[in-house]
Amino acid sequence: MSSTVYFIDFRATYKKNFLAKLDGLMTAAGLNDRIKKRELVAIKLHFGELGNTAFIRPVYLRQIVKTVKATGALPFLTDANTLYAGTRGHAPQHLVTAIQNGFDYSVIEAPLVIADGLRGRTETAVPVNKKWFKNVFIGSEIINADAFISVAHFKGHELSGYGGTIKNIGMGCASRRGKMDQHSNVAPKVKKKKCIGCGECVAHCAQHAIFLKDKKAHIDPEKCIGCGECIIVCEQNAVQIQWNQSVPVFMEKMAEYAKGVLDTKTGKSLFINFINHVSPGCDCLPYNDAPLVGDIGVVASTDPVAIDQASVDLVNKAPALHHTCLSAPAGPGKGPGKGPGEDKFKGVYPHIDWEHQLEYAESIGLGSREYALVPVE
Ligand code: SF4
Ligand code: SF4
Repeated sequence: MSSTVYFIDFRATYKKNFLAKLDGLMTAAGLNDRIKKRELVAIKLHFGELGNTAFIRPVYLRQIVKTVKATGALPFLTDANTLYAGTRGHAPQHLVTAIQNGFDYSVIEAPLVIADGLRGRTETAVPVNKKWFKNVFIGSEIINADAFISVAHFKGHELSGYGGTIKNIGMGCASRRGKMDQHSNVAPKVKKKKCIGCGECVAHCAQHAIFLKDKKAHIDPEKCIGCGECIIVCEQNAVQIQWNQSVPVFMEKMAEYAKGVLDTKTGKSLFINFINHVSPGCDCLPYNDAPLVGDIGVVASTDPVAIDQASVDLVNKAPALHHTCLSAPAGPGKGPGKGPGEDKFKGVYPHIDWEHQLEYAESIGLGSREYALVPVE
């Protein structure tokens, strides 16, 4: 069955600016049917790693918050902590990064709540009973919210080819343990050369899975549940994730996690993709390379698969900009992708089949790849 994806471009006039168009887009996509007065609405986005500048502009979020508040509901902005030790690894640092990137109450007029708590352990197990997982582990405050709005920056991604709604939800709402579930099927490993035997990881491992031997940390894989805490607490960066998951399996796991989140929000969710500054890499990186195509617009839908399919199609229909990583001469490791209709994501990541993410998501009932694109005037 075909789903509807609503679309606005970035054209604006004195009479109708872009923020007014954004308000109209959300209304057209059915916001008022999805949330009610006094409900707590989780607006899930990526606050951007420090050093990255491609993430969604805070002023756009202010409009989204304003439109949600106009229904009488109570929105808050949220994201879950990262698995790796960056600038968003635990709630205090995550909140500081969000504020430094402009997501402050004085700008947004909504509070920030880190979905999986202080250390990424505040999680809720949600049953999915799919190929890879019986249960998925989601940041509890997302589960506790009455309604859910995913606001994703649509761009390229090193592991999934592109990153949009499915990734914003599947990976983005997972607790640290949930993120580990998707990236690896084995315990993290200790780089012995880097370990100074300080014992910090031992003190933080709730499973007593780490011990010191000969002044070096060792992990007992039988006891480890993959919570990732030791990765974050080690200041020497000695505990490392074993990124051993094959790309198709990673995509399938991510889709199952997204299904887990959305099964708790039936009829209570809305998805928005910003297709601007389409950088080749994730907003998790502490930098962003030049956008692959010109700014295209914003799409909104109640179908998380249709919105991503429509976004990929819009990017691939556009011609590539000059002076991007796609401008490098074709050669080994470089695919097509420059012209209108060419696959930009395969151009950047020739070995990643981004379509698998959509195929699997559709196969588990997350949504439909068939869609009708409806411009909102
Ligand atoms: S925290 Fe890091 S450096 Fe300290 S014992 Fe654990 S692995 Fe080694
Ligand atoms: S991942 Fe969690 S359970 Fe496993 S060793 Fe590290 S802290 Fe312990």
